[in-house]
Amino acid sequence: MTITLNVRTLLIALTLINLTFVFILLVFRSIQKVYPGYFYWLAAMLCVALTYGFAAWQDILPIFFAYVVVNTAALFASVFRLEAIKRFVGDQRFSIFNFLIPAFVLPLVLYFTFGQPSARIRNFFFTLPTVLLVWQMVWVLYKSYGKTQNIPARFLGVLLFLFSALSILRLFLWTISPPTDGILQNTALNLAAHLFLLFFDVSINVGFILLNTQRLSNDVLALNRELSELHQAIEQSPSSIVITDLDGYIQYVNPYFSELTGYSLQEAVKMHTRKLKSGEVSPAMYESMWGTIQSGLPWRGELLNKRKDGSLYWEFTMIAPIQNANAEVTRYIAFKENITERKRDEERLRQSELDGRRLNQQLQARLNEVTRLKAELQEQAIRDPLTGLYNRRYLFDFLQRELKLAKRQPKTLSLLLLDIDHFKKINDTYGHNTGDTVLQSVARLLQEFTRETDLACRYGGEEFLLLLPDIDCDTALQRAETLRQTVQETCVPYLDHRLSVTISVGLAVYPADGSDYAEIIQKADEALYEAKEQGRNRVISTAMC
Ligand code: GH3
Ligand code: MG
Ligand code: MG
Repeated sequence: MTITLNVRTLLIALTLINLTFVFILLVFRSIQKVYPGYFYWLAAMLCVALTYGFAAWQDILPIFFAYVVVNTAALFASVFRLEAIKRFVGDQRFSIFNFLIPAFVLPLVLYFTFGQPSARIRNFFFTLPTVLLVWQMVWVLYKSYGKTQNIPARFLGVLLFLFSALSILRLFLWTISPPTDGILQNTALNLAAHLFLLFFDVSINVGFILLNTQRLSNDVLALNRELSELHQAIEQSPSSIVITDLDGYIQYVNPYFSELTGYSLQEAVKMHTRKLKSGEVSPAMYESMWGTIQSGLPWRGELLNKRKDGSLYWEFTMIAPIQNANAEVTRYIAFKENITERKRDEERLRQSELDGRRLNQQLQARLNEVTRLKAELQEQAIRDPLTGLYNRRYLFDFLQRELKLAKRQPKTLSLLLLDIDHFKKINDTYGHNTGDTVLQSVARLLQEFTRETDLACRYGGEEFLLLLPDIDCDTALQRAETLRQTVQETCVPYLDHRLSVTISVGLAVYPADGSDYAEIIQKADEALYEAKEQGRNRVISTAMC
């Protein structure tokens, strides 16, 4: 079978080429990203295939299909191409005007097909809007790519412009010499025109595919640049960055990680993160960490980790799951901040706070001790060390105060001066120590004998003074007598026998014996002297009592 080159064959070839490109574009979409305008271009190719398919059988198809459908489909093809190019360069506006062109042209085509058939006029009303649409395509391409070195865009622009120029030429030729037998005439000019259409259709589709591919490669290059910058940022990051798989095996570490831990990238890759564990972190902490990141949430916390050389370091860790395009977690990324210094400072601060608190406690204890000693010293300053009774100094202060009170209220105040009888003998016979014991024993009796308001004091060697505020002479006399008897009856144990002593007591009373304490003591002393004189072991009051 021989196939001769005629217009019908060329039209069939054009139909097949456009259908093939539809197929190629569909495959294209499944292997690479397509940009806006893709579907419009696909629609344009289908319209073109329909146009050529119907045109190929123009002579046998009903006139409606042979002319009206063919012209309308061809116009729609141009409208779709224009929309495709506009969408591709980012112009998303829907141009209703362009879609209305076929609607305007259709009645005219119908009229000049059925009403007043005229191939010339019909061709005029078809070519004019086609050229208008093609020039819009050229303008859109020029506006978007005019200042760039985009080869596919230039290629497409020049082709479209050439196409429009040839369309005008064709219109001109048809005007001066209209075809008498439709477009299927196998004239040299018609064959040349259809061969150009073949070239044009293949080229324009390739041009569009190239435009897509070039944008994709630009996008890939930009992405690459971005990725490389990101990679640089990660590589130069002053915090360590670790990427692991879902089981915790390391896939990537940045140089800072290697610097910090001592593990090189080669050593770290395939290593499990558990190798970094110091053993000082509670298992509960790791459980919470894994629980959080496995649920797809980021985890933050402080971990004490171990370097390659075994030394420990503190890090603040932020672990986040990395998701793929299908929102599945595919790996984890960890950002780690070395906080060893900060931890050390915190520890130092805590230690110094502790030290400070301890020092404070020590100081407080010392202060308490000093206060206690001071109180003790104060007590000692007013007490007699042997008997524990108040001393003379305190007595005079106390006596003066009591006298003032007694004068103000007014009240009586009795004063007993006591002296142990023949005490020298005890010292001489039993020794000084036994004498001391006797003194202590009499002092104890005196203390038991005194009320809260009374005051017992050691006045001299074996002399004591008892101050009884708010007690009159008779009562004081009675109490002195009781005391004298008690002393007499109380025995002091000495080796295997018991010693007993007696006391002589002199009693003086305020206000009867005077108003100043020296005077009253003097009176009491005189009464004591009298008691001694009268034979000791007795109580003598002043004559006024
Ligand atoms: P009188 O009945 O006249 O009071 O006779 P006396 O022996 O008690 O005489 P005097 O009052 O003169 O003697 C007091 C003695 O008490 C003299 C001193 O050695 C003794 N003495 C004073 N202070 C202490 C002391 O603290 N301890 C001891 N063991 N003896 C003391
Ligand atoms: Mg004496
Ligand atoms: Mg004496």
